[in-house]
Amino acid sequence: MNVFASRQSFQPRKFYIGEAVQDSPFALNVLRKYPNVERTFIADANELLENAATASDKASWRGQVLLARQRGPFLRLCPGTQKHICCGYHNLDVAAGCDLGCTYCILQGYLNSPLITFYCNTDDMVAELDQKLLRHPNRFYRIGTGELSDSLTFEHINELGPDLVRYFADKKNAIIELKSKNVHIDDLLDLPHNRRTVISWSMNTDAMRDKEEGVATTIADRLAAAAEVQKAGYRLGFHFDPMIEHEGWRDGYRDIVDRIFRVVKPENIAWISLGALRYPAPFEDVLRENHPNSEIYLGELLLGIDKKRRYFKPIRVDMFGGMYRWIRSYSKEVFVYLCMESAEIWRRSFGWSPKNSGELKRLLDEQVRD
Ligand code: SF4
Repeated sequence: MNVFASRQSFQPRKFYIGEAVQDSPFALNVLRKYPNVERTFIADANELLENAATASDKASWRGQVLLARQRGPFLRLCPGTQKHICCGYHNLDVAAGCDLGCTYCILQGYLNSPLITFYCNTDDMVAELDQKLLRHPNRFYRIGTGELSDSLTFEHINELGPDLVRYFADKKNAIIELKSKNVHIDDLLDLPHNRRTVISWSMNTDAMRDKEEGVATTIADRLAAAAEVQKAGYRLGFHFDPMIEHEGWRDGYRDIVDRIFRVVKPENIAWISLGALRYPAPFEDVLRENHPNSEIYLGELLLGIDKKRRYFKPIRVDMFGGMYRWIRSYSKEVFVYLCMESAEIWRRSFGWSPKNSGELKRLLDEQVRD
């Protein structure tokens, strides 16, 4: 297998362990790997999260991990965004927080805590999934773990990937998508996945990876990992999200499309999504404060009807239309979709649009249903 020179392997500096999960197999497995890392048992995870969120020196909390109980549901329908076409995705919240540090990451606004949380009551997660999938056998679920964290970045610590791959392998009405900018794929390569797992990478230009994606792996390593999981028989996804307007963006994004199709066969690609830089307007201060030298604010970002800042429409159409043509020059079949855009932007960029969110969901389900 390839050696990934840019792979990031986050090392915990301290564990806080919620009493409710201290004997769970998940927590015991994580702690067994780090016998020398300081640990503190706590009764109230919320109090700890609040202390971390309001600390004047947040940097001192970095690298600390909370092992906690997921009190709410693990599975949530993606809220999408008002008055836009959304894809009916479900998020499985197995962790919260990420070590990679992208400047544009909206978790900075949503989570407001420097702690990384792993939810350890995975038996509850399995019971919840069982109940959902069995109760609605005619409903198809596309589920991903990459909403509140990166799906693979903590794989060397929590080893959750293989359990998820095995769980979904025999599910008729669901698939799991593991979406990442890291390359901890080693434990996934020899599993009986039955093509019910899609392994996806978020892609950007090399320039934006260097400037805006913290310590995330190089694009070359993401593609090398894609080649490995393709060899292992998995379906793949690619997410160009967020596309960022910057000098040379056309050549940069076209180059990445070329490199994907040099490595991956179109029939193994479940989907490619496109989304332009956007964030809830109230998060802007946090993003700027955390990353004052970022270039993401140099573009003209206007306030949309959903209270998110986005590029002016002609810029988005230019980006999406260009990508669509470049992808189509390699494959007429690969399914390309827009994340949280209006029917008007679909039509202007692609020349067609799903009628509504329900139709987009159906089209995406069809890519992986059989
Ligand atoms: S990889 Fe994803 S979750 Fe992690 S910092 Fe970047 S955008 Fe956020």
